[in-house]
Amino acid sequence: MTDAGSSFIPGNEKRLATFFAGAPDAVIVINEQQEILDWNPKAEHIFGFTAQEVKGLHLSDTIIPLQYREAHVRGMQHFLATGIGPVLNKTVEITALRKSGEEFYVNLSISNVKMDGEWIFIAFVSDISERKRMEERLIRKEAELLQSKLIEEQKDAFISIASHELKTPLTTIKAYTQLALSHQEGCSDSLKSFLLKIDQYTGKLTHLLNELLDVSRIHTGNLHLANSKLDLKIFLEEVVASIQFITPKHQIIIEKNEHATVNIDILRMEQVITNLISNAAKYSPGRDKIIFRTGIIDGFVKVSCTDHGIGINDENLTKVFNRYYRVESSATEFGGLGIGLYISMEIIIQHGGEMWVESEPGKGSTFFFTLPLV
Ligand code: ADP
Repeated sequence: MTDAGSSFIPGNEKRLATFFAGAPDAVIVINEQQEILDWNPKAEHIFGFTAQEVKGLHLSDTIIPLQYREAHVRGMQHFLATGIGPVLNKTVEITALRKSGEEFYVNLSISNVKMDGEWIFIAFVSDISERKRMEERLIRKEAELLQSKLIEEQKDAFISIASHELKTPLTTIKAYTQLALSHQEGCSDSLKSFLLKIDQYTGKLTHLLNELLDVSRIHTGNLHLANSKLDLKIFLEEVVASIQFITPKHQIIIEKNEHATVNIDILRMEQVITNLISNAAKYSPGRDKIIFRTGIIDGFVKVSCTDHGIGINDENLTKVFNRYYRVESSATEFGGLGIGLYISMEIIIQHGGEMWVESEPGKGSTFFFTLPLV
């Protein structure tokens, strides 16, 4: 065995010791017998063994993981017999062992030089475990993202198919209920009231299904608008009057309304206003005023709908426009699917406008949207 205490290149020890000591990588020098001749401070830091501990030991017994030891010995024998060393003078990514037994990733490059008729091997090793950990975290994150996207897509596909399948029988029930209502002579009052209830609830169900179908349409880019030019002032008055008729418990006030010529899809815009009013009513128990204001700003008409209800905290101000999002604190108290605002926002965006909300928890909310003037 070589005298592990002495340096491996006679006469150059001082210069090389200084060079290796300051090297940014771990430097390990071994001889043909695989004995460790030199082990710089960086190697001490990375592997946890002091130079004193490892000098003279076989490399295989220290930092080479079990699964590579045999290959390492065979590789060395092959090189000594043939002069062919496929891993020499190139950088490879491989794992190594710390003194603690932890296996970690390193970049390894080995140079060989002949000294006094014997090969000396100098290994430069850098610890890349942190970079590897980050890469693995990134890959895991990407896989999770892909997985949740896949689940989202499956959910969307299911909702779309289920809504289409439910729509036909529901339309049939609604048609038969209306037929029965139109032939109600001889019917008892209670039977009539049952039919009216069926009609009312199938209407609600149809509305929900239509909303779900809208979500699929938005998702597939099939929410098409059929625009007409009109004065939003008059349109708003008409829509509010018709909704007021079916919302007797709330007072819908148009406080300020300006003439504004806009190009809109009447049914879709009605859907937006209905959604804002029904939310304003639903999320303000005990309060009965819903206030609309419109005004002209920089080529746009700005519409606001204010309630004095439970409000929305800052964290949820943008989230409420996300698909299926419902504020957790109120979700159990108030029914809903969390898609009305998502659809409304999409309708407004397709009209070239914007939608947002300002709110103070406990005091109420104001939803705004803008539409370009024509
Ligand atoms: P839904 O009302 O069916 O849950 P929406 O998309 O219309 O669906 O609304 C999303 C969420 O935004 C609601 O679940 C509720 O938490 C919140 N929200 C909407 N409008 C109001 C409002 N006027 N006041 C307080 N919270 C509201």
